[in-house]
Amino acid sequence: MNYFPVFFDLSGQKVLIVGGGDVALRKVSLLERTGAAITVVAPEITPELAARAAAGTLKLAMREFEPADLDGARLVIVATSRRAVNRWIAKLSDSRSIPVNVVDDAQASRFIVPAIIDRDPVLVAVSTGGASPVLARRLRERLEALIPSRIGALASWLRALRKPAREKLRDSDERRRFFETVVDGPAARRFIEGDNQGAQRIAQQLLATTRSAQRAAGDVTLVGAGPGDPELLTLKALRALQDADVILYDRLVPAAVLDLARRDAARICVGKAAGTPAGKAAGAGGSTQEEINALLIELAAQGKRVVRLKGGDPFVFGRGGEELQALAKARINFSVVPGITAALGAAAYAGIPLTHRDFAHSVTFVTGHAQGEGHAQGEGRAQGEGRARGGGKDLGQEPDWRALAMPGATAVFYMGLTRLNHIVEKLLEHGAPATRPAGIIAQGTTANQRVITATLAAIGGAASDANLESPALLVVGDVVALHSTLAWFGAAAEVTAAGIDLSQTA
Ligand code: SAH
Repeated sequence: MNYFPVFFDLSGQKVLIVGGGDVALRKVSLLERTGAAITVVAPEITPELAARAAAGTLKLAMREFEPADLDGARLVIVATSRRAVNRWIAKLSDSRSIPVNVVDDAQASRFIVPAIIDRDPVLVAVSTGGASPVLARRLRERLEALIPSRIGALASWLRALRKPAREKLRDSDERRRFFETVVDGPAARRFIEGDNQGAQRIAQQLLATTRSAQRAAGDVTLVGAGPGDPELLTLKALRALQDADVILYDRLVPAAVLDLARRDAARICVGKAAGTPAGKAAGAGGSTQEEINALLIELAAQGKRVVRLKGGDPFVFGRGGEELQALAKARINFSVVPGITAALGAAAYAGIPLTHRDFAHSVTFVTGHAQGEGHAQGEGRAQGEGRARGGGKDLGQEPDWRALAMPGATAVFYMGLTRLNHIVEKLLEHGAPATRPAGIIAQGTTANQRVITATLAAIGGAASDANLESPALLVVGDVVALHSTLAWFGAAAEVTAAGIDLSQTA
């Protein structure tokens, strides 16, 4: 080790900077953050330095360096353009035992300045011992990407927790364990994500519970995986996947999304395979809702970081609410990361704006699924059902067809393909014109996306001709006509049912 790293408290201490150019300015900008009393000596200075002197943030002597400038200095930084002068000043400083740095001259320096990441109060310093400043900078950039931007705020929060921890936990081992649990667990994760109050609540809980319970505090993150394209994941979803100990996923979750999870994370498929009778398990885990709930609770109670990964958004026909109700009942901590729901993703990739000032001022997401009916191939129960359960109200089996049939409204039917003819019939019956544009988007946002459009009256026939594969959405409304001009993704505007005039919208 050629250099001994220290963090130097410079507040109120005299730091002498010899030189008045851009390099000196950079050093001044850095040192200002430490509260040092900065003196700059140089016959000429940049306007920025002059402005700082005028503002009183540094002392300025506009002349050549004199040995007396070193009086009282704790640290000296030399940055003139003359090498011989630099070295002379360095020698003088050294002989007076004042640590000195000559910019870009490690040999003449007593100390060197590292590349730093400043997330006050967290400070990361990197040095290659002067071997390669470029390498040090690259290393710093890599670290920068790894270290959450809120790490400094986290440190300040942890500092604030020390007092209550001292009051509640007498034993220093106990306090250490408490802080380990906070830093390694959901509390710090929440804080990093910006949920300060959630973090505080968990920390309070930890302070109030026993030691053994502390170690067992796992949690569940309900994560939306988006509609298919893995790049539609949110940054938070990605972080959750990379932090997970175990991931429970539905069959609808694309393999490319699972590939982004931490390599060591256990992956459990809890979605039912196509055509599996209700109640039978598909993967290692159970597949009934009760079994999934029980597994989530069991894993979290073991102290695991559990990610419950669902296609699209977990709160849109995803039964996310029901799973959270079970967790809440079992007093398991949870959080939710929203995802891009299939309607939003598929419509975007199909070039169908769900609202448009000229065509639609509302959009409704409807489940086309009726409770108790058979399921489409590949659209298993785990992905959602049409009716609230677990103490909720029975909402009946039919949506408000009149509202869905109104002009100026867009309706998106999830899980609707098996009931396509029924849906069309009902819409026509409740006043939707036969010419209203309708579209089906299958495997939206994926490389296999297919879009067909037709009039409402013709969409059923067009769908069976096209032999679409699930999952698929039905979109009904005048906005669907825009697909022919706005399609941009994949084999755009692939099938528009022959002979149907979509310009004649109603
Ligand atoms: N929670 C999910 C929906 C689950 S219900 C979400 O927010 O997207 C499952 C239904 O979603 C499927 O039957 C289908 O109608 C729709 N769906 C899911 N992914 C889709 C995709 N990539 N393209 C088209 N429809 C999709």
